[in-house]
Amino acid sequence: MSGARLLEGATGPWEVVIGLEIHAQVTSRAKLFSGAATAFGAEPNSQVSLVDAAMPGMLPVVNDKCVEQAVRTGLGLNARINLRSVFDRKNYFYPDLPQGYQISQFSQPIVGEGVVEVDLDDGQVREVGIERVHLEQDAGKSLHDQHPARTYVDLNRSGVALMEIVSKPDLRSAAEAGAYVRKVRSILRYLGTCDGNMEQGSLRADVNVSVRRPGADLGTRCEIKNVNSVRFLQSAIEYESRRQIEILETGGEIVQQTRLFDPGQGVTRTMRSKEEAHDYRYFPDPDLLPLVLTQAYVDGIRATLPELPDAKKQRFGDEYGVPGELAAVLVAERESAAYFEAMVAETARLTGKAAAAVAGDCANVIATDLFGHMNREGHGITESPISPQALAGLQALKLDGTISGRMAKEVFEEMYAGGKSAADIVDEKGLRQVSDTGELEAIIDRVLAANPKQLAQYRGGKEALFGFFVGQVMKATGGSANPGVVNEILNRRLAE
Ligand code: ADP
Ligand code: MG
Repeated sequence: MSGARLLEGATGPWEVVIGLEIHAQVTSRAKLFSGAATAFGAEPNSQVSLVDAAMPGMLPVVNDKCVEQAVRTGLGLNARINLRSVFDRKNYFYPDLPQGYQISQFSQPIVGEGVVEVDLDDGQVREVGIERVHLEQDAGKSLHDQHPARTYVDLNRSGVALMEIVSKPDLRSAAEAGAYVRKVRSILRYLGTCDGNMEQGSLRADVNVSVRRPGADLGTRCEIKNVNSVRFLQSAIEYESRRQIEILETGGEIVQQTRLFDPGQGVTRTMRSKEEAHDYRYFPDPDLLPLVLTQAYVDGIRATLPELPDAKKQRFGDEYGVPGELAAVLVAERESAAYFEAMVAETARLTGKAAAAVAGDCANVIATDLFGHMNREGHGITESPISPQALAGLQALKLDGTISGRMAKEVFEEMYAGGKSAADIVDEKGLRQVSDTGELEAIIDRVLAANPKQLAQYRGGKEALFGFFVGQVMKATGGSANPGVVNEILNRRLAE
């Protein structure tokens, strides 16, 4: 991702402005106002209490766990926690909303303004403002594909707790919006407040997009509803911003609209316009008291927060000297950060070197070799066939000169495929690197004696021939000579 934040149109540059409303399902065994279960994939309508089905006379009772999770999330997003918040009814009709309203928070949300640091691919860090986070119920689901002529309703999701995380319109490109979603997801996973699983719908986003001339006031926005993958989000923004620029450049006007992204075609389409917009007639839910928290309660939750990705990234820099971009990759998931630290500790122990002296190398092996393989196969680090201790074993053999970097790559492939230890593979394949000075001196003498013409040319000033001699030594040792030692001896002998 580059720092470039402008799109070139036919009539000059445009700035894209994006604000996201992320709906994150709260990790909780029970729903926001009932004791019904929330597990994914259950039989339709098997997790529905009388409250969720909106039976007359049922009373909602707020689930403390969901409140705690929202506060935790607010703290993780560096946001203000509102000690007093209010649940409102948002009224609308939909077949999968039996209450006829959704309980949400409108004018007094539980979490106020915050800020998220977003790591861009080029190592830049951008601050994105959080407007608010509120708690609300999810609706049920209409199933249109079960019967040719009928629609069924599954109320399993009805009443499940969602956190709506509303950003300020601070994002300026599809790439930034993608990085923002990944960062928020990473923070939620660290906190354990949402599993972030976009395929299962635990995290989805409404995407607000507008364009303007650089420096101008905010333009009219369109909102793309319910986008459920980072890739779709980016395609939707790219398409939508181009669509708006084209309209404006040909003298048209943007009409505020709700749109849907069609992943098959890669386009957004009108769903409803502002004129048909709902009037939700929000009012405080008379069945629920205002939610009042104490500062001590909030402080108690703050005390249980884990080290979050930004702090970890900073520490990886301070403690191990890992550069920011690489550190950002390692800390994106708690499990990979833990993998890295375990590998560093074991490598340091095996080699007797300081952790900071081996950490950079470990970070590179994880980010390039290990992640390279895992990503290709769509696996997370928890599924790695190589443990951090085993990878440290390989790293130690490389660092103490037993094997070369090239050999280490070969051993890595075998470890990844077969689960054998680095030492066993090195033994089996006879991969030891020749670092013995006496042995190499003898080989180098033979090489020099066998190539008198090149030797004379080199001494006559043709220094490019150095590589030729290194190549000959490597050939004579079947590629097993330690390149560092070869260079050193060759330099000395050629200078004689
Ligand atoms: P609503 O509740 O009608 O969707 P909000 O004012 O709460 O409206 O804004 C929702 C989202 O839209 C926020 O994430 C905000 O950052 C974003 N937003 C507001 N104005 C613009 C704009 N002109 N361009 C892009 N995004 C915007
Ligand atoms: Mg909105």
